[in-house]
Amino acid sequence: MRWWGWGDPGHGPALSAHTLELLRETVGTSDTPRPPVALDAVRLPQTRLDRDALAALAAIVGAGAVRDDHAERVAHAAGKGYVDLVRMRAGTPAGAPDAVVLPDGHEQLRAVLELCASRGLAVVPFGGGTSVVGGVEPLSGDHAAAIALDTRRIAQISALDRESRIVTVGAGMRGPDLERALQAEGLTLGHWPQSFEYVTLGGCAASRSAGQASSGYGSIAKLVLGLRMAAPAGDIAPAPMPASAAGPGLRELIVGSEGTLGVIDEVSLRVRRAPERRTYEGVMFESFDAGVQALRAMAQEHAMPEVARLSDAAETRMSMAMAGGGGLKGRLGRVYLGARGRGERSRIGQQTERCIAILGFEGDADEVKSRRGRARGLVRHNGGVALGGSPGRAWLQGRFQAPYLRDDLLSHGVMVETLETATRWSNVERLHDAVADAIERALAGEGTPGIVMCHVSHLYETGASLYYTFIARQREGSEIEQWRAVKRAASEAIVTGAGTITHHHAVGRDHAPWLAREIGERGVAAIRALKAELDPAGIMNPGKLLP
Ligand SMILES: Cc1cc2nc3c(=O)[nH]c(=O)nc-3n(C[C@H](O)[C@H](O)[C@H](O)COP(=O)(O)OP(=O)(O)OC[C@H]3O[C@@H](n4cnc5c(N)ncnc54)[C@H](O)[C@@H]3O)c2cc1C
Repeated sequence: MRWWGWGDPGHGPALSAHTLELLRETVGTSDTPRPPVALDAVRLPQTRLDRDALAALAAIVGAGAVRDDHAERVAHAAGKGYVDLVRMRAGTPAGAPDAVVLPDGHEQLRAVLELCASRGLAVVPFGGGTSVVGGVEPLSGDHAAAIALDTRRIAQISALDRESRIVTVGAGMRGPDLERALQAEGLTLGHWPQSFEYVTLGGCAASRSAGQASSGYGSIAKLVLGLRMAAPAGDIAPAPMPASAAGPGLRELIVGSEGTLGVIDEVSLRVRRAPERRTYEGVMFESFDAGVQALRAMAQEHAMPEVARLSDAAETRMSMAMAGGGGLKGRLGRVYLGARGRGERSRIGQQTERCIAILGFEGDADEVKSRRGRARGLVRHNGGVALGGSPGRAWLQGRFQAPYLRDDLLSHGVMVETLETATRWSNVERLHDAVADAIERALAGEGTPGIVMCHVSHLYETGASLYYTFIARQREGSEIEQWRAVKRAASEAIVTGAGTITHHHAVGRDHAPWLAREIGERGVAAIRALKAELDPAGIMNPGKLLP
């Protein structure tokens, strides 16, 4: 993974000349390229761990598994959010772990936690490091130093119960490694976040992630049946049960705990038979409202697709514009890229209010056929038209590519950021508009009017997620203040508009100020009490989750 961006160097797509031109005309781009600094130029604070502490850690995990070299500290200095990338590319991360420690299993992990608790060292669990909410920022809180506890050596499949369809894996196992192993058994987990190529299963569980196919397969919270968490005070390990009435759900307290209670080192997950049939297709609706009603009906009337993504008009226009002069564009009519505020949106005309949706169905051939048939009926009922398989196949093929483009945009002085929420169906359209307005106004207020796009995804019977992407010219020299103003406005609009502060990116550092508004002061106090029990010295991931 590139330390300053996404993916393997040399991998992934670049922005087309056409898209760049489009951005230059709409939001504006930098006159001169803004490449990342060289690795050597990244400024890190001196490590605060003395020889004695390093030796004590090495005595547990082995000398090669305690790393305090520049490259390893840089690689663990931040996650992959916009702010992280801005700082890393400038060579000025907010901090760095004093060392990176790599235990190889439960025994070593326990011993490391005990050592850190006794010496007052903060522990930041680090899976794939793909957090976009500041979840792996190496904060030490009140402690003398902070280690990044990297789980990559705890990455084996320890059991596969084929009959019950439960797999148990080490928390550091990467998404693609597990999926490959399951496929060899004719099985799948069905968890594909956009960051799939790099996430770990422990990180997904700790951050309550949702894959792109969560409408059908369920988010990780539904896929995790049991897990083991090593907390400084001791282990806690709800067993993988199909269901249980043995008191409140301990599993639920661990899933989403974001490394603040302990380190998850083992996860048991529900798996399914790999699908016999995968059918992905595009449909077009006359309006966002019509698309929302169709998706709601699918979710409520036994026609739920595995993947359902309805782009609003702005996102539809952007995908068409980026696709250039392809066939779809012809079917849509002339494409305008609405930018610089809602005023211009209203000039765009009726036909460009159309919204594209991608629907993906996976499963047994007969079952897919009948579910898809019902879904198509609901699309037609809401005035939608089928666009055929090519938009669906194109989406499926490019589903993990967008993060590579973000790096390119940053090199051209363009800010691109995403945020997400969820709300009940009766509030989806209201919240959609309120958050889009808040982002647009905040960008304009920063003197950098931008493009705000959204899609509905992750469907439930009772509601859905709204996922926003916004693009604007970076305010060079004050990129983070610019971001902060927009983030604050969007978060306020979300919590006052009856949305959750996060549907799947987790709380981390960025959303912590809004947590009490959602779960109440008593709710926050209850989590604090649990933390005091499991992590009495407060060494686990300081500054995250709790305000
Ligand atoms: C381009 C991009 C696309 C993304 N798309 C999605 C998406 O589609 N859906 C989605 O849900 N998220 C998405 N994310 C966010 C991120 O990938 C998820 O939050 C993911 O679950 C993090 O997994 P990870 O292994 O990288 O965890 P990390 O980033 O390493 O850690 C996440 C949090 O969990 C803690 N943690 C990590 N491992 C453990 C452990 N074993 N025990 C206890 N705590 C631990 C960390 O301290 C941190 O607080 C995306 C991120 C990026 C950069």
